[in-house]
Amino acid sequence: MNLNDKITTLKGVGPKYASYFAQNGIFTVSDLLYHLPRAYQNRGDVCRIIDTPFDFLPHSYILTIGSEPKVALIKRGMSLLKFKAFDDSGSVNITYFNQNYLKDVFTIGSTFRFYGKLSREKRTISMTSPTYEPVIPSKPLLPLVPVYPLFNGVNQKFISKLMSEITPNINDMVNEYLPEDVLDRMNLCSLPFALKNIHTPPDENTLNAAIRRLSFDELFLFALSVSQIKSSASEYYAPSMEDTDVTDYINMLPYELTDAQSRAIGEILMDLSGSGEDYVKAMNRIVVGDVGSGKTVCAAFAAYAVCKNGYQCALMVPTEILANQHYVSLKDDFAKLGYSCELLTGSTPAKEKKAILSRIKNGDTDFIIGTHALIQDSVEFLNLGLVITDEQHRFGVRQRARLAEKSKNVHVLVMSATPIPRTLSLMIYGDLDVSLIDTMPPGRQRVDTFVVDESYRARLNGFIKKQVDEGHQVYIVCPAVEEKEEDILNFADYNPFVIEYESKKNDTSKVKSAVSYAKELKEEVFPTLNVEFIHGKMKGKEKDKIMSDFSDGKIDILVSTTVIEVGVNVPNATLMIVENAERFGLSQLHQLRGRVGRGKDKSYCVLVSSSSGEKSIQRLEIMRTVYDGYTIADHDLKMRGPGDFFSSDPSIRQSGDMGLDLAKSCSDTELLTSAFECARMVLSKDKHLGSRENALLKERLGEVISKNIKTVN
Ligand code: ADP
Ligand code: MG
Repeated sequence: MNLNDKITTLKGVGPKYASYFAQNGIFTVSDLLYHLPRAYQNRGDVCRIIDTPFDFLPHSYILTIGSEPKVALIKRGMSLLKFKAFDDSGSVNITYFNQNYLKDVFTIGSTFRFYGKLSREKRTISMTSPTYEPVIPSKPLLPLVPVYPLFNGVNQKFISKLMSEITPNINDMVNEYLPEDVLDRMNLCSLPFALKNIHTPPDENTLNAAIRRLSFDELFLFALSVSQIKSSASEYYAPSMEDTDVTDYINMLPYELTDAQSRAIGEILMDLSGSGEDYVKAMNRIVVGDVGSGKTVCAAFAAYAVCKNGYQCALMVPTEILANQHYVSLKDDFAKLGYSCELLTGSTPAKEKKAILSRIKNGDTDFIIGTHALIQDSVEFLNLGLVITDEQHRFGVRQRARLAEKSKNVHVLVMSATPIPRTLSLMIYGDLDVSLIDTMPPGRQRVDTFVVDESYRARLNGFIKKQVDEGHQVYIVCPAVEEKEEDILNFADYNPFVIEYESKKNDTSKVKSAVSYAKELKEEVFPTLNVEFIHGKMKGKEKDKIMSDFSDGKIDILVSTTVIEVGVNVPNATLMIVENAERFGLSQLHQLRGRVGRGKDKSYCVLVSSSSGEKSIQRLEIMRTVYDGYTIADHDLKMRGPGDFFSSDPSIRQSGDMGLDLAKSCSDTELLTSAFECARMVLSKDKHLGSRENALLKERLGEVISKNIKTVN
């Protein structure tokens, strides 16, 4: 067996399975080997039936089959298989559904390790569909059983089976690629050892060593790829913008710029202008400011300066809603200033898109606003001078790289509203010049924040009614779009390093879904109010319609998923309610809270959570008491690891596009910092990783990068 073998060489993987795997970026034995467990079940601690605690958690039992399995048909196409099994303390009734073939597996007298939840009602002790493994003296059972991330078409058993085919070959297939000095300095275990033990850990300590090693690898490879993107970005020159007189625009604004805004705009204009030369070193600047600090107008000034000098400007944002809002708020200003502005998103109709593309190409369009549709190959500019990305952290690293590719020899301006902890910002934005917008426009008030549980529901509804009666609008954010997503992970309590996280007994609260909750509110709670919902799965047009209706005050209550998280601006909205708040990251909650308090009226944020998990309570308490985005970000990093900051959109996160599957929840900031230091150390000796010692490292880096491209596309 070889790492590069196609997975179809494994037993049982035909074309159909291969296509399921391919959809998830798994093509080779190596890809599968790096499909790492997301958790482990502790089946090593065997429990006696009589000693089972009343904790409603699954436990492990070694039981002998005591009665012949009986099959009963319950309704058409449904059958039950029932039998008794016992240990030295008692016996339990075990039931499986629709698995008649198990009749031949559970023969009387044979012994299995079962793992499941025991239920005790009156006198009967029972278990339904526990997982089972035969106890065979010659083949000891694993104490910690990996739980793999699943995807369409593939179950745990199948992945485990494939892993058991692969893992015995690890020592022969896998070569160490980390340089010796890095291994020494970090005191890491070897790669074959780590890979073997992450899939088949003999005990917790060994598992932790394996996790530490592989987390380091992810961070280290990430650091290397970021450094490479950066070093290529800093070599560019771009046209200089000689005319930086922006007084026309200043005079048009309905408000005065804050000092921080003026400073940022000044810095941008300095970057853009040369002193007589045609080309200057390309601007590579990030404007960082908390939500609502007024970054958009800084971007608009940059765009204006560029248009004024006869070049085009592209503004790229992560969502259609935001693209639309920027477009609506900027196009009139630009028209008055004498420049044409257009919108291009994924849902622009083909015909219109064609026309827009040709206007971009022949230079009729000066300022183009859009989603990542803008970086597609079909978009050709006549003379692009500046690319601005808003809410940059929401884009995946690949999209950013592609954008960088598109924007060679143009100026680059990045806007970010997610306060990034200082340790991380150096890593992510290390080579960018930073303009910090550290003051809010005048008149902003603090958004008072409350954490409540279900018992406050009636009062909360009364409060909603009151806000609406006073002429204001309300956001309600739910963690799921539709009912069936109920079992999505509780991110707050999810941590792959917790050996057993399943069936958290604290997490009994029902997950609110945007669609059904909106219906309930509309029909039962607020029949006289206008309640609408919006979520990321809706068509662009529908979303735009809802968003502009909300913006125009036609909707009183907007129930949504986090699509409204970024950038959207409706000053009349004064109440933000977040349902199942424990499921969101702190920075995400801070962003959501930033949607209100944008006008002159007093605004509120209510975080609804019935979770009694200690971590959740602690996190929500931070939201209640801390209002500064940076402090919140530091807490978030400590509690949830860096994953959220590299890419805070769950759909991006799950695509694994950062290759940070393990490390994203690694709260060991020292490992994080060291990974970047080691990357710097290695690159300082061998900038392009061209040396013979680094050949394997370079190969692995290439693999990781190309895998991420496949996953994102
Ligand atoms: P963000 O930094 O979150 O992107 P925006 O640029 O969307 O914030 O600005 C938020 C709101 O503040 C907008 O309605 C904008 O018009 C307003 N605004 C921006 N700058 C000022 C200012 N200097 N004075 C008053 N209002 C401002
Ligand atoms: Mg913004």
